[in-house]
Amino acid sequence: MTNDVPSARPFVVAIDGPAAAGKGTLAERLAAALRLPYLDTGLLYRAIGKLMDERGFDLDDPVLAGQFAEALDPEDLKRGDLRGREAGELASRVAVHPAVRAALVDFQRAFASRAPGAVLDGRDIGTVICPDADVKIFVTASPEVRARRRTDELLAKGRDVVYETILAETRERDERDSGRAVAPLKPAADAILLDTSDLDRDAAFARALAIVEARRG
Ligand code: C5P
Repeated sequence: MTNDVPSARPFVVAIDGPAAAGKGTLAERLAAALRLPYLDTGLLYRAIGKLMDERGFDLDDPVLAGQFAEALDPEDLKRGDLRGREAGELASRVAVHPAVRAALVDFQRAFASRAPGAVLDGRDIGTVICPDADVKIFVTASPEVRARRRTDELLAKGRDVVYETILAETRERDERDSGRAVAPLKPAADAILLDTSDLDRDAAFARALAIVEARRG
């Protein structure tokens, strides 16, 4: 065949950062603006944590957790109970196991490699999953700002939460995500840092879009 039109190389945007930095909202808006599919990779770890927990398995068992990761069905990501704090805590416990991370690599890379590309958010997208991503943004904010935002969000939903507790949880999750041996949370050497401590959602989105457009241009 001589008249095949080569499909454009997928355009991949990697968004990483700590919990509650606002990267989910940002990544979703970016994906919509760029008309690219979006993968919230935290859902993978959340689903594994939730499935193991509800079946009474030990989340700290690396072999068992790896088996759950191997058996994960993309349909499990559609569960309605994955977004909360509890699932986030369970996720960060299973996410420390190398076998869990290894089992999820192919799924994430396959998602990113389909034309026209994708926006993925997580902790290790720019460093491990898509080291050749066209754009890498590391979204961060101080633990105090992240805890304040999360507390306000939960209070607005009518939940009875205390700022100090959320701040302690935020710090604990940062420590676990940054301190683990495999794929720790850290900016890729070529990532652009976006500190949203003093930015509202619209301003953060405008900055991120400008970063992407500059790379695409
Ligand atoms: O981003 P989200 O809060 O949904 O992630 C939940 C947890 O899953 C994180 O605290 C982290 O431990 C883990 N995770 C990860 N690598 C990713 C995405 C999430 O280790 N790419």
